[in-house]
Amino acid sequence: MKSRPLNISEKREEFLIHGIPASPGVAIGSALVIRKAEFFIEEKNISPEDIPGELSKFKEAIEVTRKQIISLQNRVQSMLNKNDARIFDAHLLILDDKMLMEEVEAGVAKELRNIDFVFNRTVQRYIAAISAMPDPYLRERAQDIRDVAERIIKNLHSRTCSILDRLPGQRIIVAHEVTPSDTADMDKENVQAFATEVGGKTSHSAIMARAMQIPAVVGAQNLFLDTIHNGDLLIIDGYLGMIIVNPRPNTLKVYADKESEAEKYYSGFLKETRLWPETIDGFRIQLAANIQGVEGVEDAKRHGAAGIGLFRTEYLFINAKELPSEEKQFSAYSKIASDMEGHQVVIRTFDLGGDKLSEVITPFNEPNPFLGFRAVRLFLEYPHFMKTQLRAILRASAFGNVKIMFPMISGCEELDRLTAILEECKKELRVSGIPHNDNIDVGIMIEIPSAAIMADSLAKKVKFFSIGTNDLVQYTIAVDRTNEKVAHLYQPTHPAVLHLIKNVVSAAKANGIWVSVCGEMASDPRYAPILIGLGVNELSMSPGAIGPVRRLIRRMKMHEAEKIASSVLLVDDAKEALRISEEMINSVAPDIVRMSFKGI
Ligand code: PEP
Ligand code: MG
Repeated sequence: MKSRPLNISEKREEFLIHGIPASPGVAIGSALVIRKAEFFIEEKNISPEDIPGELSKFKEAIEVTRKQIISLQNRVQSMLNKNDARIFDAHLLILDDKMLMEEVEAGVAKELRNIDFVFNRTVQRYIAAISAMPDPYLRERAQDIRDVAERIIKNLHSRTCSILDRLPGQRIIVAHEVTPSDTADMDKENVQAFATEVGGKTSHSAIMARAMQIPAVVGAQNLFLDTIHNGDLLIIDGYLGMIIVNPRPNTLKVYADKESEAEKYYSGFLKETRLWPETIDGFRIQLAANIQGVEGVEDAKRHGAAGIGLFRTEYLFINAKELPSEEKQFSAYSKIASDMEGHQVVIRTFDLGGDKLSEVITPFNEPNPFLGFRAVRLFLEYPHFMKTQLRAILRASAFGNVKIMFPMISGCEELDRLTAILEECKKELRVSGIPHNDNIDVGIMIEIPSAAIMADSLAKKVKFFSIGTNDLVQYTIAVDRTNEKVAHLYQPTHPAVLHLIKNVVSAAKANGIWVSVCGEMASDPRYAPILIGLGVNELSMSPGAIGPVRRLIRRMKMHEAEKIASSVLLVDDAKEALRISEEMINSVAPDIVRMSFKGI
């Protein structure tokens, strides 16, 4: 196989692009190349009777946009300062630009084309003209127009405008970036796989790909958007992190075989879902599922999860235009609680911010989003928003075995403030006689090093810990989990990470509470002996990852895992720690190593 680069004008021969393997599996299909912020705007003919409808849709979108900008401006004003909020005055002025609006309205009537199409074409012309002006101040205004235009287009489409929501058939998505909000609305039936130029293995879109069980390669850094054409035949190898463009017939044959072998192998795990995840010497580990929505429950059950270890509730409304009401949240949480029939459901409060942005509540361009206004920090700033969610979770606790989990806890003070608000919510429900579990278990995610260090104090205040290794690794080693440039430094077996995990588990044991791992480390069999040997009680992961971990546990002995854990704590090298664990797995379950990481 030939390695790239390739000039676009060259003959389309097979070539290979390397990236980061983000979700296992193989896909063979036709490429759909998506550039940044591209929207799928159809050009449609309309009849003269449709004109009033199109124009009132436009007026409505302008008014929704105006409200959004004003509410954004108010929030910025209250949190930052008046100067920072002034930018939005310019945005509001654009909405009042008579010339632009009249031109659009006249265009619809004259050309008999749909409003989105006419508006986009007109505004793009304005942007191009302003971008070409000699005055740098005016040139910068082009960005304001672009922002406002994007907002109007989204509102015209009721947020179904991303091309990812509506694919023209089965496709492999090739994009600069796929954001968590893109994955939330993705046309899942038709996305065979995706490959991106940016991102790391634990960025949330990679996590979503694993949850949807579609192969993915991220962080393919060498500008592959320029070398792949729409319609090119691609192979995505999600095991090895390879994108093969225009494969030759013999390459296709190798991959078709690989695909059918993998399918056979993975369907084998579905026959083992009733077997206990128990070591040969009789220690049982709880295997739970991470889900993103109500529909995840079915998958969790199909793969034999013992419960829901992490419900990432932020996906409920990542693309919504307003905060979800208590009723809407209650209906989702109570459905999951009753569908799980008494099995544990850990509902994590919203963890927005970082790479999970919602137009409604996290609209700022922060310089360091992962160190910024994220999760409970945002929650504490908007107690009303927080109470709505807590009341909904509490009410759902009357329908099953529901637990509350707070993410991104940095220390005791923050936890105390959250607990006080939770107590207020319980009191309100008690006074109104609304059924709920007043003794609901409350746990926290341990994903910030300060919390891992303070685990002993925190353990006295909660019923369980769940270690979020995705963030714990990122914050401990100072490696952005979404940045492909530093992906090689993202090492879950870094000695500092392992020592922090040990500290957390010891604190949990000393205080008689249970401890889970719900970061991606839990789903990767290579780390299972270490985590189990360190004393973790539960591993929670995307449902599709449970099978190999269950099989591995059933082939291990706890005392061997404990030996592995002690050995890795003695080495000061992440690669050596991983080697020690892999050696053990290879001796008891070589098939898992071979299939999980090579797919052959
Ligand atoms: C984690 O940080 O490990 C985790 C499970 O949470 P998230 O991936 O949603 O940040
Ligand atoms: Mg996290």
